[in-house]
Amino acid sequence: MNTNKSKKLFEQARQIIPGGVNSPVRAFKSVGGNPLFIEKGVGSKIYDVDGNEFIEYIGSWGPHLFGHNPPFIKKALLKSIENGTSFGAPTELEVKMARLITNLVPSVDMVRMVNSGTEATMSAVRTARGYTGKEKFVKFEGCYHGHADYFLIKAGSGALTLGVPTSPGVTKGNAEDTLLADYNNIDSVKRLVKANKNKIAAVIIEPVAGNMGVVPADNNFLKELRQICDEEKIILIFDEVMTGFRVSQKGAQGIYNVKPDMITFGKIIGGGLPVGAFGGKKEIMEMVAPAGPVYQAGTLSGNPLAMAVGYAALTYIKDHPEVYDVLEKKSAYLENGFRNNMKKLNKSFAINRSGSMMTLFFNEGNVNNFQAAVKSDTVLFGKYFHEMLARGIYLAPSQFEAVFISTAHTTADFDKTITANFESLKAII
Ligand SMILES: *Cc1c(COP(=O)(O)O)cnc(C)c1O
Repeated sequence: MNTNKSKKLFEQARQIIPGGVNSPVRAFKSVGGNPLFIEKGVGSKIYDVDGNEFIEYIGSWGPHLFGHNPPFIKKALLKSIENGTSFGAPTELEVKMARLITNLVPSVDMVRMVNSGTEATMSAVRTARGYTGKEKFVKFEGCYHGHADYFLIKAGSGALTLGVPTSPGVTKGNAEDTLLADYNNIDSVKRLVKANKNKIAAVIIEPVAGNMGVVPADNNFLKELRQICDEEKIILIFDEVMTGFRVSQKGAQGIYNVKPDMITFGKIIGGGLPVGAFGGKKEIMEMVAPAGPVYQAGTLSGNPLAMAVGYAALTYIKDHPEVYDVLEKKSAYLENGFRNNMKKLNKSFAINRSGSMMTLFFNEGNVNNFQAAVKSDTVLFGKYFHEMLARGIYLAPSQFEAVFISTAHTTADFDKTITANFESLKAII
């Protein structure tokens, strides 16, 4: 595969952009090699600057539920541009967008638009703190909630100990308010709640974790979490930046039947433009300025171009609820292909899938939390990644990410991917 242009661009980029990229995972650091510079995307395929074509499963890290550049999204964007790019004043589309989200997702009475998932989670936690008058919050090891200081905390020696910053620049003060629990382990939450009585404002969780690879929550675990939050007057926040409109039309609620107090969105609701949102019960959301005292703002929040595209994506989802059956069938086909390959190769690597999010872990045990996920063989994954890439299949360049299936992926795409999976596994094990 000729990647000369990408190589040259990366050399230039590294001189003037930290690490050569504007978001770390793009740099291929955990799999080795140079990142490819992408020129365009059409449906299930992307094309790099050297003219290589790939069937790809990143979908811009989640937004592209319908594949790259679907005509109805492009049309909405072009139409909106005719009226200007931004006004800094309210537009009708913001009302329509809020109505659509509140109609589609139970437990969202009110919603505030922001520009990224990071802003959404950061603002949700601030609102929960303002509402409850409490300061600490619980997050789960292996869950990612964007890069606000107090989310960049990993457990030290155990879930009960106070957080330790994993990123330089995060202060001790910030770390102390972040309590770390084990995913799918309700006792770890109970211990924290007991040790921090009346101090915990919120519990934030990815109801299907996608940022340690795909690790779905157990149903009972989420139910008990809901119960603890009710008993202790803690705000339960589902971070659905990835799972919102991905795992079902109602997000995780659609598959778990557990209602959070607040939800954060991003990715799909922007249809590929920079959008996030946080919402929840009316009495909580009315704390947000200017309705209430919790300050939250954004020069480009509710941007007309982003709203036009997001509204087109969500309208499509509303009008085509069958999209999720289609995605389930497609995703199951790919999963079964991978499973058959492993049978033939006498391997039992874990595959976790929730709807159109899936991860093949290079790990023969059951992966239901962070400790299990990190036991995966990342060196072997790196080899697998490059074998797949050489066969025209572009996966997320990290073991701890999801494969995203879109409605644009065809059976021919999957058959090619399944064959590549077999050959790649055979080459490396
Ligand atoms: C991607 C993601 C975020 C951060 O969103 P950005 O738009 O990258 O800031 C937060 N939470 C979850 C669950 C995510 O997957």
